[in-house]
Parts: sequence; structure tokens; C-alpha cells
Amino acid sequence: MTDHSESLLSFDKKHIWHPYTSMINPLPVYPIISASGVRLRLADGRELIDGMSSWWAAIHGYNHPILNEAIQQQLKKMSHVMFGGLTHEPAIELSKLLIDITPSLLDTVFLCDSGSISVEVAIKMAIQYWFSKGHPEKQKLVTIRSGYHGDSFGAMSVCDPVTGMHEMFCHILPQQFFAEPPKCAYHDPWNPDDLNHITSIIEQNHSSIAAVILEPIVQGAGGMRMYSPKYLSGVRTICDAYNVLLIADEIATGFGRTGDLFACNKADITPDIMCLGKALTGGYMTMAATLTTRAVSDQISKGRPGVFMHGPTFMGNPLACSVARASIQLLINSSWQDKVMAIETQLKHELASLAESPKVSDIRVLGGIGVAELKEPVNMADIQQKFVDHGVWLRPFGRLVYTMPPYIIDPSDLSQITNAINKIIEMT
Ligand SMILES: *Cc1c(COP(=O)(O)O)cnc(C)c1O
Repeated sequence: MTDHSESLLSFDKKHIWHPYTSMINPLPVYPIISASGVRLRLADGRELIDGMSSWWAAIHGYNHPILNEAIQQQLKKMSHVMFGGLTHEPAIELSKLLIDITPSLLDTVFLCDSGSISVEVAIKMAIQYWFSKGHPEKQKLVTIRSGYHGDSFGAMSVCDPVTGMHEMFCHILPQQFFAEPPKCAYHDPWNPDDLNHITSIIEQNHSSIAAVILEPIVQGAGGMRMYSPKYLSGVRTICDAYNVLLIADEIATGFGRTGDLFACNKADITPDIMCLGKALTGGYMTMAATLTTRAVSDQISKGRPGVFMHGPTFMGNPLACSVARASIQLLINSSWQDKVMAIETQLKHELASLAESPKVSDIRVLGGIGVAELKEPVNMADIQQKFVDHGVWLRPFGRLVYTMPPYIIDPSDLSQITNAINKIIEMT
């Protein structure tokens, strides 16, 4: 390593927070200088095959000519302008597309900065909906354990209280209702008893409940669990029966990751409110969106105070809107479903033998997501280093070693990822 990169790294170590890290005892970070296709190029010249899509986001890989072009064209016109009192084609065209491709009743779009904020917006919308309908007492949320919805306060209040690592904030977080997560995995035969706990919570408390919020079909950072679509359609039915809204957090699952464009499609349901983020811009820029049905948006707008009480500075950022629009068009004009199904088939095949390993408690694959759940937690720094030494970028946490590669990955690169997973799990 050169003196220059040495000094950059030591500055980083001393002064810069990384996600979920310590400032005294930071985990190692790898300096990266560029990325293209599915390859990340480290400062020391090594290339890593990306198995993470930068946390579900970079579905088309990196440095994509069409996405680059979309940003460059927009940059020449304007990079940002306030959204209060002004509007522009990038936001309009993106919103049209989102309304077009999401379940048909979703009809209005709130563009915001990040996934966590789109969850805050969804929660506020649900509460404001009931307020405006003359039910200010309906303010609580129901969610399912093992969920993850973001790091801001409202979002934290619905993250799994154990795996969510938010324990020390519990006294200032609103207290929500937590239902047992469904036991039926995605491919299991359905057992309606899975709905008993959430049903009884809603039956007993619906007069104080604004909404159920959940990650449809795949729970991401809270445990990488994949559950039966029957559970999701069951929750939709209960919500309707007891006057409770349904918020689907599709921030991780949206844009094809599960093999359907949205995970809600697997249960053929429409949520009242849907959160999108992560892959929305193809991983290029931070942006998220909260969509609602016309019934929700109209009710919010009818009552006091007559407006929805939220409006971020960078709302509808034109660069982000342009690249999001280009990314969605690229996706829907491609044979993305074939690609995701091919990834699923290959992951199932190449991770299958791990199920026999004494170190592994479960192997789960759905769409472009492959998970090995181990019996013991991994040592993050140690296992990260091993993957890097095998030319692969993965970021295991807890007892989970998992991959969700860019859809454009070719079979030999994907094999390199699965080989590394197989080998390194056996080694640890
Ligand atoms: C990542 C994620 C979020 C939070 O998004 P940020 O952009 O990190 O704020 C919320 N919900 C789900 C399901 C996520 O996967």
C-alpha cells in the first residue's frame, strides 16, 4: 500500500463512522476506487465479485452506461431544485412509472430521501388518515418480529426489539404491538394457525391501531426470513375486517428481487401504503418513495390540517428521479424475471449441499436471494477477510451468510460466490 492510501485509511479509522461500527474499535474497511458491472476494484488492485448489490440496491451492477447517461443528461439541466411550489419532468415521469408498475390501486407518490424516511412518511400518513377520519386514538402500529424498517425513531419502533439493536432507546420509542412471525416458510404447506397471534392482537386492540407494517414475503436485515404468501393475504383480510391500514415495506423486496416485481404480487394483494427504496435508483443515489391508494391520500387531504405534514428539502431530487426512471425502464424492458429465476435455480443447486453441514441450520433461496443460516454467529471481520481473499464481496452478520447479487451476474461469477460461501462456512 502507498503512503498516501495508508494515510487516508488512518484518517478514516480515526474520524469517520461506518454503518453500525465503533469509533474506538472499528472493523477493518477496504478502500475501493471503482466499480463496474459486478466487479468492485480495491485500491490495492484486487477485484471482488459483488454478492451484495450494495445492500439490495445495485440491481443492474455498477457504472451502467444507460444509468450514467441519464444522470449526465439531467445534470446539464439542473441537479436540484426545491419541490415546494415547483415541479419537473423527472419527478412526473418517475411517478407515472411507479403508479404504473405497482399494484393497481396505488395512485399517489411521495418522493423522499431514504428508506427510513419513507417509513416515517408511511407511519405519519397512516396516523393522519385516521386523525382526519375522526379517529385520533388510532395511532399504534402492529408489526411482526424479526422485521427491519430503518434506523430513524418511528422506523426503529417497529424493528425487531432483539435483532434490531435498539434496546437502549426503548423508553423514548413509541410502544408498538409485536406479533410472532409466521412459522410457515415460503415453500411450506400453509398452516392458518400462523395468523392466530396477529389476529388476536388486532381483535383486541383495533380501536387504537392505525396500521400493520411488515416486509412482504422476505424479512431482510432483521433475519432474512422468507414466509408464506398465504400469511400476507391473511393479514390483508384481517386489516380489512378491523379497519386497520396495511403498510408494505418493499424497500428490500421491490423491483424484482423475489422473482416478482413486488413481493405483494406473490399474494396478489394491494397494501394501502407501500414503501420503496434501495433498488429504486438502481443503487445510484439515495431516494425512496411512499405510495398510497387514492382513498388514503384523499382522506388525509380532506381533514384537518388539510395537508400532509411532511416535506424534505431534497424531495423529488431531479438527478435521483432521472436515474430511477432510467433504472426502472431498464428493468422492465429486460428479461429480468428470467435472470432472477436463473439466479434462484443456480443458488438452490450450488448451496444445496450446505444443508448437510453440521455448521448450518438452514438454507433458504428465493428469487435473487440466497441465505445460509449458521448455528453460531460469525466473526464479521474474520469472515469478511476470508471472502475478500476469495475474490468475493459479501457481508455476513450474526448467524447469516447471504447473497443478493446484481441481476446481471453471469453463472461463472455467481459460482465463484457460492464456492466461496461453501468453502468458508466449512473453514470457520
Ligand atoms: C434498508 C431498509 C430500510 C431502511 O432504508 P434506508 O435507506 O437504509 O434508510 C427500511 N426497510 C427495509 C425493509 C429495508 O431493507
